[in-house]
Amino acid sequence: MYRTHSNGELRLANVGQEVTLAGWVQKSRDKGFMIWVDLRDRYGITQLIFDEERTSKEMVEKAKTLGREFVIQITGEVIERVSKNKNIPTGEVEILVKKLDVLNESKTPPFTIEDETDGGDELRMKYRYLDIRRNPVKESLIFRHKVAIEVRKYLSDKGFIEVETPVLIKSTPEGARDFVVPSRMNEGQFYALPQSPQTFKQLLMVGGLDKYFQIVKCFRDEDLRADRQPEFTQIDCEMAFVEQEDILNAFEGLTRHLLSEVNGVEIAEFPRMTYDEAMKKYGNDKPDIRFGMEFGELNEVAQHKEFGVFNNAELVVGIAVPGGASYTRKEIDKLVEWVKRPQVGALGMVYVKCNDDGTFKSSVDKFYEQEDLAKWAETTNAKPGDLICILSGLENKVRAQLSALRMELAERLGLRDPKVFAPLWVVDFPLLEWDEDTKRYHAMHHPFTSPKPEDMDMLDTDPGKVRANAYDLVMNGNEIGGGSIRIHDKATQALMLGHLGFTPEEAKEQFGFLMNAFEYGAPPHGGLAFGLDRLVAILGGQETIRDFIAFPKNNSGRDVMIDAPSKIDDEQLKELRLKLDL
Ligand code: ASP
Repeated sequence: MYRTHSNGELRLANVGQEVTLAGWVQKSRDKGFMIWVDLRDRYGITQLIFDEERTSKEMVEKAKTLGREFVIQITGEVIERVSKNKNIPTGEVEILVKKLDVLNESKTPPFTIEDETDGGDELRMKYRYLDIRRNPVKESLIFRHKVAIEVRKYLSDKGFIEVETPVLIKSTPEGARDFVVPSRMNEGQFYALPQSPQTFKQLLMVGGLDKYFQIVKCFRDEDLRADRQPEFTQIDCEMAFVEQEDILNAFEGLTRHLLSEVNGVEIAEFPRMTYDEAMKKYGNDKPDIRFGMEFGELNEVAQHKEFGVFNNAELVVGIAVPGGASYTRKEIDKLVEWVKRPQVGALGMVYVKCNDDGTFKSSVDKFYEQEDLAKWAETTNAKPGDLICILSGLENKVRAQLSALRMELAERLGLRDPKVFAPLWVVDFPLLEWDEDTKRYHAMHHPFTSPKPEDMDMLDTDPGKVRANAYDLVMNGNEIGGGSIRIHDKATQALMLGHLGFTPEEAKEQFGFLMNAFEYGAPPHGGLAFGLDRLVAILGGQETIRDFIAFPKNNSGRDVMIDAPSKIDDEQLKELRLKLDL
């Protein structure tokens, strides 16, 4: 037997037993005639002792050759420790080693393999296999496994079937670029990697499978923003014979199950909010509702004086910062600088201090009376002691800017507690979104999303106003899932693609397979997909997804460990007809 026990297992009750252990040398302490070694594996750390007196001089000499991360196997006797370590479960015992085998040596690792490491991000990614030996990364991967297993259990118990869909497919538009794979056997032709299994899961509904899920890799060639991965994992789901309400209930159930099983947190019914309400109250379609600081729109109570900045603005809007009245002039100046950063882009910020005695002191006292400021306080729900921060300008821009400020201030005020979970559904998303670059409407979710039947007649007259049967599940300021009720008839799908600027030929060429399927008795259906990486990170109390991915890519989409992407040789290029002049 390679090992009789793991390194996390032995206790006082094992004293006197002969055991065989294997693992990595975490560190050793050399006292000359006696050496202690911490032996590590996935399960924990066990202390080994090599002692001239109780075993042999040779044994101690051999132990002295052990370096960090050597892989060893030992046999010895479990003894009670003289000085016990209460911090680890095995801390009351140690192993008096009688036999030591070095299974493999190790070079000195490029960073310390401890909970707190001195390795930078890139270095840790380059040696990811060493990083995985560290507790925080190992625990994150085990945590991810737990979540994935719970998802499978829950959905399977509810009658969902996990079906694998192909990876070499034709483009499925989810708003990003496709990764493409050249086909050797079909000259000049390419597969696309799925941005999601969207069309396949719809075809499974036409196939009568009724309830589908899949934990599945998706690929999107986007300009990488921080904390995005070009390949990521979805919990992809679809159901037939359902309305939006059925979907929301089914997946609220799953989310509640995960929060309960994984985090021990019980959450009653998730609140629901329309997209319009979310934008109005939080300036954001994925509001963090762990804290208040809701927007107060001030046009009516702020555009009646001689203050041109407000008078010329489409929207004047503010938030109350709890306790902010005590900020110094310098601190407020810093906030103003913060909102003026190019990433936020505000032109300036007006503020009002709500003094404890009920009076107000603002940066626009020249223009406004106390009773004006009192109305602003009322509208933004500011209490004595608060600071009202007000931005103005074009509606869409100002909302986004104030939303950024709200999140930043909440972070600084410690209101974004990762142990608190605040899920909600955002519903009634717009169907279409105007794109300035292409001067066209794009599907806000994807082209298979069904418009709300009652809004259908606005498709020609006021397309931007048409709402969709589309919804997002939001938690702690992050979108963790999104989906829609789908179009399930050919005519509506063709109409929709027409509105998105596809000619009938293009529509047929790209989506003919789906529209054909709709002609053979497609049931009403809908679904959603969760982003597993993000969901796991949030349940794990973190906002970055990288540590929950075994082998992540860096911010330039590179795998620095295997050095991919990389060049391929001329022969391969030729075979793929990507290089013809050979
Ligand atoms: N395919 C969609 C996505 O990847 C999810 C869905 O509509 O079910 O966002």
